[in-house]
Amino acid sequence: MPLTLRVDGDRWRAHLRRTAAAYDGVVPVTKGNGYGFGLVSLARRAEWLGADSGVDTVAAGMYEEVPGLLSRFTGDVLVMSPWRPFLAGPAADVMGNDRVLHTVGRLDDLAALAARRPGARVVVEVLTSMTRHGMGRHDLAAAAGLVRAGRLRLEGLALHLPLVGDREPEAEQWSAVLAASQLNTDTLWVSHLDPQQVARLRADRPGLRVRPRVGTALWLGDRGALQVQATVLDRHAVRRGQRVGYRQRPLPRAGHLMVIAGGTAHGVALEAPATAGTARQRAVALAKGGLESAGLAMSPFVIDGRQRWFIEPPHMQVSLVYVPAGAAVPDLGDEVDVRVRLTTTHVDRVELV
Ligand SMILES: *Cc1c(COP(=O)(O)O)cnc(C)c1O
Repeated sequence: MPLTLRVDGDRWRAHLRRTAAAYDGVVPVTKGNGYGFGLVSLARRAEWLGADSGVDTVAAGMYEEVPGLLSRFTGDVLVMSPWRPFLAGPAADVMGNDRVLHTVGRLDDLAALAARRPGARVVVEVLTSMTRHGMGRHDLAAAAGLVRAGRLRLEGLALHLPLVGDREPEAEQWSAVLAASQLNTDTLWVSHLDPQQVARLRADRPGLRVRPRVGTALWLGDRGALQVQATVLDRHAVRRGQRVGYRQRPLPRAGHLMVIAGGTAHGVALEAPATAGTARQRAVALAKGGLESAGLAMSPFVIDGRQRWFIEPPHMQVSLVYVPAGAAVPDLGDEVDVRVRLTTTHVDRVELV
């Protein structure tokens, strides 16, 4: 029951190449659902970018993802989720691998990592306004001491910046902190800066090696090269008031019930349904007798030029979608466009066309 991601291969590869060139030293982020492509596919693509554009490192989200990346990408793998002494399994398994760079965000963890594996390659993460992981600037002197004493190989300082706000001044402040610190590195790993911001940071501090970690802007930056489509699996004419679905709710109007590939297992329900938000919007919908007032939610499936309503919450692998009488209904086996966020969607198939 395929939900398919169709990729215009030439256009996508051109975008990847352009983005790698614009950033210079880009570290592709290969994590989670592989931004809709799958991790295996991204690892292979990163290897291609290595040969094509000099990419030498990829960034994994967590240790569980590392073995699959190491087997398909021949460069280094930075693990962005901080190493913790209590992480067993994959974290322990890749401990001895010199192609793995560990991120450490706490002084205690730095000491513990040095005790477990002297000589490990580490990136020290600092706590930005994101407030997720990392140590404060006043911990950096102690961190430098632990790195030396533990004979850890320091590979840089890492920042995770928010998506909004004054990211550039924050990155500048941290680069000044790094320069003034006793940490023996000139590498700054950053996120969420655009190519111009990275270029300015480099121009301001010629000694600084900036490594931008980029996921969305790289893999999904040219959305026009990517199209998600779902197969129409079944179709039924329905009457007004007819009870349908798991919930047997009566339909407010006549039309067609479409059974379309793509359900909760694909992440389709995670797409924030565009229901009327405010009380006023709901009142307007009610006055118009719209389907929102019947408790329906907007689906991401596009039929006859418009996104259509879910008849009920998506099933595990398919969705029931309402098409009003008068609209053109697709045939069985046809594919319809699906407007979904690729970072939360698991497609059945990726096709390069
Ligand atoms: C996911 C992630 C990134 C990349 O984020 P995008 O928005 O996909 O570019 C960078 N740094 C960290 C720490 C992340 O977790």
